Amino acid sequence: MTDRGAVIGFDLDMTLVDSRAAIMASFAAVAAETGVTIDPVGVDSRLGIKLEDELAHWFPAGEIVPAMAIYRRHYPLLSGPLTSVLPGAREALATVRAAGARVVVISAKFEPAVRQVLDDVGLAVDEVFGGVHGPEKAVVLTALAADAYVGDPPADMAAAVAAAAWPVGVATGSFSGADLRAAGAAVVLASLAQFPDRYARRFS
Ligand SMILES: [Mg+2]
Repeated sequence: MTDRGAVIGFDLDMTLVDSRAAIMASFAAVAAETGVTIDPVGVDSRLGIKLEDELAHWFPAGEIVPAMAIYRRHYPLLSGPLTSVLPGAREALATVRAAGARVVVISAKFEPAVRQVLDDVGLAVDEVFGGVHGPEKAVVLTALAADAYVGDPPADMAAAVAAAAWPVGVATGSFSGADLRAAGAAVVLASLAQFPDRYARRFS
């Protein structure tokens, strides 16, 4: 299997970038403005889902949209200073692009925020899809005929399997290698530093 023309999908948060601190600080800002308790341990245990779905754990249905607006006012200010590129991510994207394949970022995050984060940390990609999680990622991967999807939560592995893409788990988020394998990961990497070697073995 050659990789020229291949499409390689990547999740963003905790796969390419360590955005945990910015996310936690944004939830703390929502808690401070609304007076509603938001347990960071609970948020952390689910990192990767959509903002509205996380807020549903803390707010009644009618208060979710205003809480999203508060979060989205704070996040852009916190993301730049608090987000870093995870080890190996830059090299992983460079490996894919150097091989003539396309890098597509597919994230549950609001698309403008995905673009901002990529811009802030200086990661160049070919295409971005935001606001999708779980089975919705599978729909995007299928439409792209993606060859692989790389992500940190189990739901990403299930999406890759559903889309017949190579499911590559990276244990840099809130989930273990065992969690990722149970969800269908064909490969689990401790970090993206291991990606170029696995990619070369798969595609060359
Ligand atoms: Mg993630």
